[in-house]
Amino acid sequence: MEKKRGKLLVIGFGPGAFEHITDRARRAIEESEVIIGYNTYVDLIRGLLTTQEIVRTSMTEEVSRAQEAVRQAYMGRTVAVISSGDAGVYGMAGLIYEVLIEKKWNAEGGVEVEVIPGISSINSCAALLGAPIMHDACTISLSDHLTPWDTIAKRVEAAAAADFVIALYNPRSGRRTRQIAETQRILLEHRSADTPVGLVKSAYRDRQQVVLTTLADMLEHEIGMLTTVIIGNSTTVVYDGLMITPRGYQRKYTLDSEEQRLRPSERLKVEAEPWSLGAKEQAGESEGAEPVQPDFPAPSSYSYSPSSSSPLEAAMEALQILEAKGIVSGGHAGSESAHSVTGNPSALFEVGVTPGIANKKFTARQMASLAEIAGEQGEMEYTPHHQIILRIPGGDPERVVAELKAEKLLVFPVGDVAQIKACDFCNLEKDGSIPVAEELNRAIGGLKTPKEFKIGFNGCGMACYGAVLEDIGIVYRKGAYDLFLGGKTIGRGAHPGQPVAEGIEANQIIDTVERIFREYTDNAFPGERFHKFFKRVGTVAGFRHQEQAIVAVADAVCGD
Ligand code: SAH
Repeated sequence: MEKKRGKLLVIGFGPGAFEHITDRARRAIEESEVIIGYNTYVDLIRGLLTTQEIVRTSMTEEVSRAQEAVRQAYMGRTVAVISSGDAGVYGMAGLIYEVLIEKKWNAEGGVEVEVIPGISSINSCAALLGAPIMHDACTISLSDHLTPWDTIAKRVEAAAAADFVIALYNPRSGRRTRQIAETQRILLEHRSADTPVGLVKSAYRDRQQVVLTTLADMLEHEIGMLTTVIIGNSTTVVYDGLMITPRGYQRKYTLDSEEQRLRPSERLKVEAEPWSLGAKEQAGESEGAEPVQPDFPAPSSYSYSPSSSSPLEAAMEALQILEAKGIVSGGHAGSESAHSVTGNPSALFEVGVTPGIANKKFTARQMASLAEIAGEQGEMEYTPHHQIILRIPGGDPERVVAELKAEKLLVFPVGDVAQIKACDFCNLEKDGSIPVAEELNRAIGGLKTPKEFKIGFNGCGMACYGAVLEDIGIVYRKGAYDLFLGGKTIGRGAHPGQPVAEGIEANQIIDTVERIFREYTDNAFPGERFHKFFKRVGTVAGFRHQEQAIVAVADAVCGD
């Protein structure tokens, strides 16, 4: 009698709960005569076993497990090799093929092999956290048992620099404790300390734990063998305890109204996607292209650019259905969340308003119009930056901006954009430099920056509006401009900017500031403040950074 052809079923059974095991994986387990797997995994699927013979092994015996599986299959048996998650992601699938290749196996004459996909931890853990993956992401295993640490560190570095969302597998074990700390150190060189980080332990198992933290604080929480660590990218936000990465970086949709600015037929055109390769080729650019600046009025909190229109439309449709059924409300999101949330679907339109760059006086009519535009639901916040922030739930950006402009109000986006903070030029009396301030505002005011970026512009040597404390300070004095760089306005370590040049001519100052701005926006890490950037790179537009004198701290009389 001809010997039965053996079969290897390489099965990923998902995170651990039965309902997340695919139907094919279940049937493959039923079909098998022998089950080979790590003890814990066999226990997890015990409820599905009937008469199968079980070959249990401990964690470190992966190679012998693969060899045993292949040996039994060559004896004509149907062998199931089980991995948690997906067997092809740091699982048994590759090892099985390596053993087979060693035996000069081929698909035709050798044993039959079927790899059965499962839900990998990157997917199951992401689902528990919200939607942190969403965009380009990668997995990195921090286990240096089979991979040299230098290779792992290089991958962490590359992924961090390229702004990938990163899922760290095997982040820490009893003996491997330094790898995660070293990884955090590398990531912090590229990403802001408040980057959202999700820690999921034992997803969909009895002892499941989900923790939302930040890159700075992640090591203060438990991370072990059964944890997957998900590091957000520069756009990831936290909303209502969830970690969410927006679907796109550049604006193409308004989320707060049913009417889209672009018709479906226009959306995929090159003109609508100035950041695309097609647009760059059309413009004759290839590398080192200028970053795409947001086109006002819609603030970045409405920015989305799905590669096709359907997922977003489907999501909006779903939301509308839920709203119609009263399951979720599309109403007001508090001002706190409006700041921290990018693309909150229950959208709040947010915009900065002033009477002018130099003019600080609202007319009564402007105030009345502001109140009317804000309406019952809207709010007006007076900020320390001589501006009012208007927040209108469900406000139509284009209409609101048009109404504000009709009242001769200056409007600008809020958030990580360049803002010109001018003084009142002594009630517009010392007005010699106002045209330059206005020109500077036209040149870079409102453009996107890695982090909030303020340019103080004061019209005389008194600099009483504190220009020297801002990221860039410009002080008009004796017919020319003094320049200060890298002020830190807030915090216990607050310090003024460093005076880097005096007497810059009127026709040079805008160019100089533009060069500084461009170096910063091109080279800063996402979320990096200008003063930190200046310190890190040492020279910006030819101006050298100098360490500030260290201040001796005396014992405080009161406070902490
Ligand atoms: N093949 C598996 C990965 C095995 S490597 C998969 O596709 O998911 C082992 C690592 O996977 C663990 O250190 C942990 O980082 C992750 N992991 C496996 N199961 C998990 C679970 N239920 N919850 C969270 N992380 C898990």
